[in-house]
Amino acid sequence: MSLTRPLVILLLLALLGFLALQRCAGERPQQLSRSRILMGTVVEISVHGADPGRLEAAVTDAFAEMARIERLMRPAGEGSDVARLTASAQGTEVAPETAAVIALGLQVGAESGGAFDMGLGRLKELWGIETESPRVPAPAEIRQALAGTGQGDLRLDSRRVEKAQPALAVDLGAIAKGYAVDRAVELLRRAGIESATVNAGGNIRLIGDHDGRPWRIAIQHPRDAAGQLALLELADVSVSTSGDYERFFEQDGVRYHHIFDPRTGYPAGRCRSVTVVTPSAALADALSTAAFVLGPEEGLALLRRFPATEGLIVAADGTPHVTPGLEARLTWR
Ligand code: ADP
Ligand code: MG
Repeated sequence: MSLTRPLVILLLLALLGFLALQRCAGERPQQLSRSRILMGTVVEISVHGADPGRLEAAVTDAFAEMARIERLMRPAGEGSDVARLTASAQGTEVAPETAAVIALGLQVGAESGGAFDMGLGRLKELWGIETESPRVPAPAEIRQALAGTGQGDLRLDSRRVEKAQPALAVDLGAIAKGYAVDRAVELLRRAGIESATVNAGGNIRLIGDHDGRPWRIAIQHPRDAAGQLALLELADVSVSTSGDYERFFEQDGVRYHHIFDPRTGYPAGRCRSVTVVTPSAALADALSTAAFVLGPEEGLALLRRFPATEGLIVAADGTPHVTPGLEARLTWR
């Protein structure tokens, strides 16, 4: 009796200790980062939480969803709504996701006075900026590629997209990555993830914060590949950057990049980079492209028309323009 009692107490203590340790291990926040090539870029998902198995499953599902969106919205290939739309003479029915993206793109196109244009597929193909053999087309070719294009000739009626011009080739390259990021975030949230980042080639969305502190997002210097221009402290928001420094070629000392001014058919020349901060990644993606085409003054005016939207625009001469709401969250590097 005199021996069993201390033994029982000892055993109980050991059990309590073991349980406490287990609890600690279970609650210690884990980080899991995975990357995949999707939509022609590196997509990185980083999640934080207590249960590694759950994190892994959530990230796998989020990537699968992004791959599904890519399949629907890529310019060509089996199962692509965009390919069917481009091939059709008068339009076609599309998936609800594609319809949602086109609806948002039409809105940004209208708000930007046509600077954002999902109808530039033929122009994009002509320049071939993102291919092995880009070239500066002849002016006549550019005129031809612009004829009968423009999203002014697109109508959306629920899930049906109408084309007023049979030749119109749809290109969701400036908005689909952001939308895919939004879908990934939706799935992560549904899986109970409260702290995460999803980054698809500069289209970033943040879930929650990072251990009670804001995430620190570095904005690349548009003329120094290794350098940072600024750091942004952000939480629970999206941030997208469009620049002339990632996808471009040079000929006779001129830089030709992949964001076109629909009015001229040439790469837009008013900016080096545009960063937009707003809740939705699809909107951030579209607005960063639209503001890039418009340039600093009109670009900032465009951002002001959207609620809870801030931005940093680096003009062609290198001058940065920042919306007042972003200044407090920005540190120059
Ligand atoms: P990235 O794709 O490098 O993140 P953007 O989001 O700015 O950059 O999108 C650029 C892509 O958008 C181009 O490759 C092309 O597919 C398409 N695009 C180019 N110019 C325009 C424009 N004025 N409006 C809408 N989409 C455009
Ligand atoms: Mg974009």
